[in-house]
Amino acid sequence: MHYRQTRAEISSAAIQHNAKWVRRKMAGGKLLGVVKADGYGHGVAPAVKALSELVDGMAAGFMEEALAVRETGYKGPLVILEGCFSATELNLCCEHQLSPVVHCEQQLEYIEQAQLTSPLWVWLKVDTGMHRLGWSEEQAPQALKRLRASKNVAGVTLMSHLANADAEHRLNAHQKQQFCQLSETLNDYQARSFHNSAGLLNPDTQWSLQDNDWARAGLLLYGVNPSTVTEVQAELKPAMRLVAPVIALHQLEKGESVGYGSAWSADKPSVIATVAMGYADGYPRQAKNDTPAMVRGKRVGLAGRVSMDMLTIDVTGIENLQLGDDVELWGPNIDVREVAARADTISWHLLTGVSGRVPRVLV
Ligand code: PLP
Repeated sequence: MHYRQTRAEISSAAIQHNAKWVRRKMAGGKLLGVVKADGYGHGVAPAVKALSELVDGMAAGFMEEALAVRETGYKGPLVILEGCFSATELNLCCEHQLSPVVHCEQQLEYIEQAQLTSPLWVWLKVDTGMHRLGWSEEQAPQALKRLRASKNVAGVTLMSHLANADAEHRLNAHQKQQFCQLSETLNDYQARSFHNSAGLLNPDTQWSLQDNDWARAGLLLYGVNPSTVTEVQAELKPAMRLVAPVIALHQLEKGESVGYGSAWSADKPSVIATVAMGYADGYPRQAKNDTPAMVRGKRVGLAGRVSMDMLTIDVTGIENLQLGDDVELWGPNIDVREVAARADTISWHLLTGVSGRVPRVLV
C-alpha cells in the first residue's frame, strides 16, 4: 500500500512504440533490448513484458539481474553484459540459458575448465578503443580460437562497445573501422554486435545491419534520445513520468529565501510550492535553480536546493494551485535530458537512479 502520491508512471505502450521505432530505424539485423538496472529504472518486469514480443533478445548487467529477467517468464536469448566470474555462475547460465560476455582471461579460463551439462552461447568482447572491457585486437583471435575449441561453447557473438557514439568524436570512425576489420579477419564466429542506441543514430558508426548483426539498444527503448548528433526526440515517447504532489504553499516577500543554504531568493513577492520529491527518491541534488518542472500545464522552475524528501518550485502566477496537485519532474512534458543538463549529468543516470521508495505505476 502506498500512501504517498509520489510515483513513476510507466507506459508499456510508450516502450513498445519506441521498440518499433528502433526496429524501423535498424531496417535489418536483430535487436537486443537492454533491461539492466531494473529496466533502466522502469521496473524489470514492465520493461521485459513490454519488449518481449518486439526484441530478439535481452541484456542484463549481471547474474542477479538476468535471473530477475527469467523470473518474469521471458525465455528468449539473454546476455549477461559483465559476464561470469565463477563456476557457479556458469552452471546457472546452463540452467537458465544465459549467454555470458567473455572479456578477460579469467572468464575464459572459467569457461574452459567448467563441467557444464550443456554448451553455452557466449559473447566475445573486443576492445576497439574504449579501453574498459575486452580483448585487444591482438588478443582477440587467440581468445576466439580457445572458445571455439571448448566443449562448453556452442557459438560466439563478437561484440564491441562504443565510447563516444552520443557525440561527434574521432574515435567513432576509428572504432567502427577496427571492429569491421576484425570481424572480416576473424571468421569463426556466428554473429556480431557493435551498436548501442547512439551508435544506431550516428552517421559515423552506422552500417546497413545484416541478419547476424545485433544492435544493443537501451535508452532509445525508454523514449530518450541519447544523441547530440541526431535530433529524434519528437519521434520517441518517454516511458517514465516522474510525478509528485504539492504538499505545501508559501508566500514569500521580496528578499526572502528558500530551503537549505538559502540558495534561492525572491526578487519580487513570490509563491513557492513544496513538492514531495527529494534526492532520496533519485531526483538529482545537483539540479540548479530553474530546472524545469510542470504543474497545471505550466512550466515552472526549481527554486532552491533539493532536500532529501522534497524540493521547492517557483509557482508565482500559477492560478488555482492546490495541495495535492501533481508536479511532473520529467516525462512527456519535461524532457529528462533538460533536467540532466541542469544537474550536470546524463539521462541514463536520472532514469536508473529513481530509488526504490518511488512506486512504479503502470499506466
Ligand atoms: N551495450 C552495453 C555493453 C552497455 O553497457 C549498454 C549500456 O550501458 C548498452 C549496450 C546500451 O546502451 P544505450 O542505453 O546507450 O543504448
